[in-house]
Amino acid sequence: MREHIPRVVIVGGGFGGLAAAKALRKTPAQIVLIDRTNHHLFQPLLYQVATCLLGPAHIGSPIRGILGNQKNTTVIMGEVTGVDKDQRCVFVSDADRKGAPVSYDYLILATGARHSYFGHDEFEKFAPGLKGLADAVAIRNKILQAFEQAEGEEDPRRHRDLLTFVLVGAGPTGVELAGALTHLIRKTLRSEFRRIDPSTARIVLVDMGNRVLGSFSEDLSKAAKQQLEKLGVEVRLGHGVDQIDEDGVIVAGERILSKTVIWTAGVAPSPAGKWLNVETDRAGRVRIQKDLTLPGHHEIFVVGDTASLDQDGRPLAGVAQVAMQQGRYAGKQIHRNVTGQAPAGPFRYFDKGTMAVVGKGFAGLQTGKLHLSGLLAWLAWGAVHLEFLAQSNLRVSVFLQWVWTYLTDQRGSRLILNLHGSEGRTAAVYPHEVIVSGKSAPKAIGVADRVH
Ligand SMILES: Cc1cc2nc3c(=O)[nH]c(=O)nc-3n(C[C@H](O)[C@H](O)[C@H](O)COP(=O)(O)OP(=O)(O)OC[C@H]3O[C@@H](n4cnc5c(N)ncnc54)[C@H](O)[C@@H]3O)c2cc1C
Repeated sequence: MREHIPRVVIVGGGFGGLAAAKALRKTPAQIVLIDRTNHHLFQPLLYQVATCLLGPAHIGSPIRGILGNQKNTTVIMGEVTGVDKDQRCVFVSDADRKGAPVSYDYLILATGARHSYFGHDEFEKFAPGLKGLADAVAIRNKILQAFEQAEGEEDPRRHRDLLTFVLVGAGPTGVELAGALTHLIRKTLRSEFRRIDPSTARIVLVDMGNRVLGSFSEDLSKAAKQQLEKLGVEVRLGHGVDQIDEDGVIVAGERILSKTVIWTAGVAPSPAGKWLNVETDRAGRVRIQKDLTLPGHHEIFVVGDTASLDQDGRPLAGVAQVAMQQGRYAGKQIHRNVTGQAPAGPFRYFDKGTMAVVGKGFAGLQTGKLHLSGLLAWLAWGAVHLEFLAQSNLRVSVFLQWVWTYLTDQRGSRLILNLHGSEGRTAAVYPHEVIVSGKSAPKAIGVADRVH
């Protein structure tokens, strides 16, 4: 009789899934990693793609390439749509197959999160979020297109809404995007237009909380706000948006006219909780045990943004470090199990600190009792982000691009791309929907209507 080789199925090739796969590289098992995209994405630098500093290929790496030398691992591109815990299989769909079962002995779910509009899904049409590469390219197109439209507009009174950028959500994504946007607008684009002055563009950052970077200490959040204001960002705190539509937003009863509204607020976990039909927290994240498994299912691990685990009485944050450490732990636990070793003790997250960058040369860094803001924190931020990029070629190319931009203020990737096909169609203006859905362009939201 042939010996049964256990199969470990990992769903998701993000921070958690990839760390798990790497931890299993020497395990005498068949590892199958399934992701709906063909690439691992370094989400912390998405805002730099959206603001033209980096191109998509700087922060995305083919999963197959990363794991190419790992002989026990097979990578499958497909979308998991469900899990049968009793039959021990996941259901995978791709262009040819719908719900094909893939069996497992061990399962690691690392399917991350997507954006949440807090029950206002109608906002999505007017305020794209920043979660994947297609989103970042769509936002980049929208920003660049606004300047092109304004330059072509005969009536200068119409420039105001085109040159007003509203960011909804002042967490790390909103703050980093706002800072980078000021640099793009006030430095890179400054002298390239003749009818408009890009430096007059208005950037408004809105949040219902009373501080920017609410998860940071008060002193860092205050320093970040001051830095944003120094860069010319209008920071509007204490009120959420009441309305987002084709004309802009309404905040605390005031209409802010804007053709570019970007959603940088909440995220919601993947539907893993629904697939498993198990208890979730209020946000919908799967409640897991201290060894990261599902109660009653020692063979199913859930890690990263889609998992909910408390440590010292507080829920672990949805950040890359948590996902990576959990993925690594899950992989190692399975390795011990497969090789007949006793399981390790419970998972414990080691917090290495958090950082957020606010424009050129300024970041906030918080690790234990150390709170740092300014240039030193920015340098540390750069070093850490380079270190965690998935492949060494990316580290080199991102580093070179950063140095080039630092010295010259020029940006690497300023193309307005219609990934759908013929350039020059209105689709070029709204590739968000085009890229995401792959269908023909929906009706343009405002800007294109006014070209005729
Ligand atoms: C704009 C932005 C900026 C951020 N900045 C920071 C930062 O500065 N520092 C930090 O620590 N964290 C940051 N984060 C959070 C961090 O990126 C996440 O916490 C981390 O990615 C979570 O890892 P994960 O493995 O759980 O999920 P992800 O890395 O999101 O990976 C999930 C993977 O699962 C795949 N997937 C999802 N559903 C399915 C399915 N049904 N079938 C198949 N595959 C599927 C996805 O394609 C993806 O590859 C940021 C996030 C965003 C969006």
